[in-house]
Amino acid sequence: MKANPATHSMPLAFVNHSVSSGFSYWEIREFFDEPDFVVVGAGIVGLNCALSLRERHPKARILVLERGLLPQGASTKNAGFACFGSLSELLDDMNTQTEDEMLALVEKRYQGIQLLRKNLGDKAIGYKPHGGYEVFLKGDPEFFMACLEHRKRVNKILKPLFRKKVFEVVPNTFGFEGVQDYLMKNRYEGQLNTGKMMLALQSKCIKKEIRILFGVSLEDFTDLNGKVAVKTSLREFTCGKLYLATNGFASSVLGDSVSPARAQVLITKPIKKLKIKGSFHIDRGYYYFRNINDRILLGGGRNLDPLGEKTAEFGMTPLIQGKLEQLLKEVILPGTPFEIDTRWSGIMGVGTSKVPVLKSLSDNVACGVRLGGMGVAIGSQTGKELSRIF
Ligand SMILES: Cc1cc2nc3c(=O)[nH]c(=O)nc-3n(C[C@H](O)[C@H](O)[C@H](O)COP(=O)(O)OP(=O)(O)OC[C@H]3O[C@@H](n4cnc5c(N)ncnc54)[C@H](O)[C@@H]3O)c2cc1C
Repeated sequence: MKANPATHSMPLAFVNHSVSSGFSYWEIREFFDEPDFVVVGAGIVGLNCALSLRERHPKARILVLERGLLPQGASTKNAGFACFGSLSELLDDMNTQTEDEMLALVEKRYQGIQLLRKNLGDKAIGYKPHGGYEVFLKGDPEFFMACLEHRKRVNKILKPLFRKKVFEVVPNTFGFEGVQDYLMKNRYEGQLNTGKMMLALQSKCIKKEIRILFGVSLEDFTDLNGKVAVKTSLREFTCGKLYLATNGFASSVLGDSVSPARAQVLITKPIKKLKIKGSFHIDRGYYYFRNINDRILLGGGRNLDPLGEKTAEFGMTPLIQGKLEQLLKEVILPGTPFEIDTRWSGIMGVGTSKVPVLKSLSDNVACGVRLGGMGVAIGSQTGKELSRIF
């Protein structure tokens, strides 16, 4: 359809700027006309928050704003581990937490995975109960021995939750090289298809008449007289309540309590007769890899450049990508030819504590951010809790 040239030549005097935003009456009415609830961020937390709001408010007008054309944070970039902590991660947690606190966090993560599976269904999210494994490098035998020594103790602490042993020692049957002969298996760990999970969440929102606008940024907001004035990159409007689910990008409202943390990933092209199946944590969790569609997805290496990776800018560095390739070649796929298909990065939100920041910022504005590397597991529950702050 051709644009009407008359529109462009209309004298400015005829244009009343308060009503000439370029949006139609229908668009304004359906999207911007005083939504009851606005959620910022279309990641796992934002979409779950919107869905929980819908459950409690069947008739409410709910709008989700996402600045990217796709979600631009962590939820569509992650590795899809449905995990609640490798043995070494839990031992590390016990350096700063009591046994009860560690157990409570494991329970939150494990129950969160069950909630995600129940909400969306295993088929829709491509859930596979392949188990998880911790792989110990040969060059660090003391660390391996320490994990072996504490395995029984951790299993005992986790027993009230799982009833059976969580961590067991199994031989390296995957052909990994440069590693200890035994791996630590966690039979309760699973993996999912991150892309399918996010699509399932989006479809559920659309079915429940939740509007999602992509490519729109929240720029500013003011909580005034029972309403929130919202300034976005598209338009200014007011809403009843505002929920911020902006995770690694929340420092503008929360200061130092949330820092961005970039995580780099690569994926190989399909590999013939790939034997590796499961989710793997390697070198104290600094690296992680899994199978997906006959490929290996591998990420990590932030420890190589902690300051450089404390950034909200997407991108890859030769240092980290080089290390990932070296691991693939020497440890994970020794002797197996492979090609890298794609590389990407995501931005997480981290802080001094592993617990998310869930709180009200004013009478009508709340946030649920800082999910660290646990958002697949705890994102559904965090979104639900965010929706219940008011
Ligand atoms: C590479 C990688 C691997 C990971 N692997 C795992 C894993 O295997 N298992 C696991 O449990 N967790 C993993 N995580 C962590 C997990 O992905 C995150 O914890 C989770 O996705 C956080 O969800 P969220 O909704 O809080 O944040 P996000 O998904 O980051 O969503 C926040 C959204 O807010 C939007 N936004 C920000 N500012 C604005 C604004 N001003 N206006 C509008 N929109 C805005 C962003 O564009 C973004 O889409 C991984 C993360 C990364 C990066």
